[in-house]
Amino acid sequence: MSNHAYVEKCSQSQSRFQHKFYGYNQGMHELIDEIKYSQRRTIAIEVKPGGKVIVRAPKGTRKIAIDLFIRQKSSWITQAKARMVKIGPGGDKQQYFDGAQILYQGRFYKLQLVDRIKNGLNFNAEKGFLLQRDRLDEAAELLTEFYREETRRLAAIYIDQYASKWDLIAGSIRITSAKTRWGSCSGKNGLNFSYRLAMVPLDAFEYVVVHELAHTRHHNHSPFFWNYLAQMLPDFQKRRLWLKQNGRKLPIL
Ligand SMILES: [Zn+2]
Repeated sequence: MSNHAYVEKCSQSQSRFQHKFYGYNQGMHELIDEIKYSQRRTIAIEVKPGGKVIVRAPKGTRKIAIDLFIRQKSSWITQAKARMVKIGPGGDKQQYFDGAQILYQGRFYKLQLVDRIKNGLNFNAEKGFLLQRDRLDEAAELLTEFYREETRRLAAIYIDQYASKWDLIAGSIRITSAKTRWGSCSGKNGLNFSYRLAMVPLDAFEYVVVHELAHTRHHNHSPFFWNYLAQMLPDFQKRRLWLKQNGRKLPIL
């Protein structure tokens, strides 16, 4: 189970644009949101999730060279933009301050800074996330660790439940940091899950675990696999849709 690329890119060597242009300067092309100049050798166009179009160009590139490139690529840009608008923008960077919101099992909880707390970070359904003030600079690592532990714990519960009911045997469980892949199943039936699953509602979490567990029977995405999965989890389509619609908006730690 994997998703597609986060960013669409299109680039071309700059050498084609080394003609000299004089007395020509015009505003940004209507298809472009931003032009970024840097130490690079080629012009490239990037379309981000949400549809933002960024042109990257070598320092000193003339506007007319960029404009020419954009015009040549305009149909590609329009198509890429249409695809990326549907995907929606990527998630924001997680912030850590007193009162910040932290996602857990599909819900936001408040972060509170406290003087002292076991393990530096603790979760409590009533109080939310408690973070030891003097470990604020480690917040991302502590939260990642919390998500990892939770993903491991919950995945094990679902695996036990479904493996015994469907007479399946799962290999080792591994927790990954994958951003675009929720889970995978190895040839030896080892199951891998992204710690980012701790952020999603349990319905969607359960779907990913059952999906990967079903791969221990069918190591492919054949109709047999999908039929089998539908028997294990009849409403899986609805759960899967949540991930498709929301998966890319989750915060980045
Ligand atoms: Zn799959």
